Amino acid sequence: MGNRQMMESLMSQQLNRRTVLRTVGGSAVAFFVLGCGSGVSNQGPAAARYGPPVPPDGRLVTRWRQDPFAFGSYSYLAKGAEPGDRSVLAEPIGERVYFAGEATHRVYPATVHGAFHSGRSAAQQMRVAGLDDIVVVGAGMSGLSAARWLSDEGVSVAAILEARDRIGGRVFTDHSLGSAVDMGASWIQGINGNVLTDISDRAGIERLRSEWANWVVRDAMGEVVALDRLPSDYVQVVNVEMEYAADVAQLSAEAVEEGGGLYGGDVVFPHGYEQVVDVVADGLDVDLGAIVARIDHDANGVVVTLSDGRTVSGGAVLVTVPLGVLKAGGIEFAPALPDEKLGAIDRLGMGHLSKVFLRFPDVFWEPDVEFFGFMGEKRGLFPYWVNMMPYTGAPILMAFHAGTPADELGGKSDDEIVATAMDVLGMMYPG
Ligand SMILES: Cc1cc2nc3c(=O)[nH]c(=O)nc-3n(C[C@H](O)[C@H](O)[C@H](O)COP(=O)(O)OP(=O)(O)OC[C@H]3O[C@@H](n4cnc5c(N)ncnc54)[C@H](O)[C@@H]3O)c2cc1C
Repeated sequence: MGNRQMMESLMSQQLNRRTVLRTVGGSAVAFFVLGCGSGVSNQGPAAARYGPPVPPDGRLVTRWRQDPFAFGSYSYLAKGAEPGDRSVLAEPIGERVYFAGEATHRVYPATVHGAFHSGRSAAQQMRVAGLDDIVVVGAGMSGLSAARWLSDEGVSVAAILEARDRIGGRVFTDHSLGSAVDMGASWIQGINGNVLTDISDRAGIERLRSEWANWVVRDAMGEVVALDRLPSDYVQVVNVEMEYAADVAQLSAEAVEEGGGLYGGDVVFPHGYEQVVDVVADGLDVDLGAIVARIDHDANGVVVTLSDGRTVSGGAVLVTVPLGVLKAGGIEFAPALPDEKLGAIDRLGMGHLSKVFLRFPDVFWEPDVEFFGFMGEKRGLFPYWVNMMPYTGAPILMAFHAGTPADELGGKSDDEIVATAMDVLGMMYPG
């Protein structure tokens, strides 16, 4: 979700994602820590006192692990998995069942642009194979980019079937706090050469740059911690676990090396990521509330059965549901998926990163600092906060939690989750 870009900006604008993460994941963490200290000082904010927090007057909580149409936030390379598993996941089965989605993309997994490219690439393969009358399952970025390309190329799309009552999948903007806040993806990660930059440019969608080096870390006593004194295991929480949405112990050694990064820094959408989705989806006819339960396929075509018993026939199907849905066996395939694909689904990991948004009557934190780290005792428990004020103009904080703590919190009520977040804020800003 962008921490790798924070590391990049702290260390050097020249390093790429893989280099940076290899550095943090391997023995050179100390180099990163020293690198932070040499380039950035957060001693200034220590002089001023902020807080204590007042009760929030608005809140939003996500639970991506519990979401029945995602079962997690995004994929990662788990222990025992290898990058080739993503290719296996992407492979068609039979002649008429194709797959796309962020988890299938070897170069940009776990990102919105990776999802976009995966959908487009599957659509291109389907056209090359001479397929037509295509049923697209899922209207997230991968399904929409596929349907968009097929339609633009004159390949007929039989239906776009989306289980939710909205499009966008893991790109989802909420406006109920009076500002646009993104419950799933927030950032274009690496703007140079990014297809999402092109789309946003063409549509005139406003973006704001995130300055990852503009951050302050506080400990459980509310003291600002000098960046050159951060313990390496804290750097790993804040960076690796939040980035991969999984505990370090769950990651394959190759996880931090797979894929490629884009340069140019990251941007957010002050009026919501949904604007990009809307551009891609423009003119497409999406069947909302259509939960796909079963796909029958043979050499002649496919029959897709919805949970309400309706059926949709087509010449081929493109399945773009998240890895979490495939892991849960959410769709029955007849004939069944081959063992090789089932193995890849099993081995790849589906991580959990969730967010809590808290709106306050007024700002009680450093108004000009973009990111706050919390160095508490429990790894992954609200270690990372985003000041939404610079993006939305509203006194809103966004807190992340990831991995096992996120799974534990996900089973609790909104009141309990918010209370835990407020406890952390209280430690960060004792007043
Ligand atoms: C909290 C969070 C933060 C993130 N931050 C970033 C970020 O800052 N930058 C970034 O680039 N990426 C980020 N990501 C990842 C990014 O959101 C995803 O990689 C991308 O949106 C996935 O797109 P997709 O099309 O592959 O899947 P999805 O968007 O999940 O689309 C799949 C669609 O399939 C539908 N579906 C599921 N089951 C069925 C069914 N049975 N029948 C019919 N439809 C079904 C779903 O409802 C969904 O709409 C984040 C994700 C999360 C959750």
